[in-house]
Amino acid sequence: PDPIAPGELALTGAEAHHMAAVRRFAPGDRVVLFNGDGYDYPAEVLSAGKRSVALTVFPPVAVDRELGFPLVVGSALPKGDRADFLIEKLTELGATRFVPLLTTRAVVQPKPTVVEKFERAVIEASKQCGRNRLMAIDPPRQWDEFLRLTDVPLNRVVLHTGPDLAPVARSGGCVVAVGPEGGFTPEEIARATTAGWGVASLGPRVLRVETAALAAAAVLSAHRSG
Ligand code: SAM
Repeated sequence: PDPIAPGELALTGAEAHHMAAVRRFAPGDRVVLFNGDGYDYPAEVLSAGKRSVALTVFPPVAVDRELGFPLVVGSALPKGDRADFLIEKLTELGATRFVPLLTTRAVVQPKPTVVEKFERAVIEASKQCGRNRLMAIDPPRQWDEFLRLTDVPLNRVVLHTGPDLAPVARSGGCVVAVGPEGGFTPEEIARATTAGWGVASLGPRVLRVETAALAAAAVLSAHRSG
């Protein structure tokens, strides 16, 4: 994204409405703007109307709130609001990229429209947690296409229920896959291992889709260096 230029800035549309009507910002209030480029843009409100908010933007400050390594989560989608919850929490935990997965046993397959919906959820969650880089959202991908992505870390793990599986590796830079409510099929697991993926368990209890994805992201994000 292009940097936000220091000086006067007029915000309109949804952001202006949110600032003026929901957050009730008033002249003199301080706010931090971001556009996903890794900088905080401190600003001061000059005027706040329903349709437009005028601000003075001060010089940007580089602030790194990222993990320091890529954390890619590919997941079948849980139903309804639980998908939005998943995106919100992955954003907070620092995941760098989310891939909605099309899997055999999914009750509801993700549609292309989820990308825009999830991107909006990422922005809202980033505002709340202070993240100034955005978690990327891929279009929904078929299982085999996901298994063969080349622009992801080599530490690749499918989460799968089962008693004899290795625990999730505790190292930085990882891509994890989470199955649907009905789980991955034996064929999907076989295709993953053939493609060089590890298979890991998070313990003997069956977790819901979003719990499994967030538990793995929490374990892996705890290894941020510095
Ligand atoms: N009956 C399904 C099975 O046994 O695979 C349950 C699927 S679970 C609701 C949804 C997804 O969450 C699974 O496909 C898996 O990716 C992940 N998951 C749930 N519990 C897990 C665990 N204890 N260890 C690893 N992955 C788990």
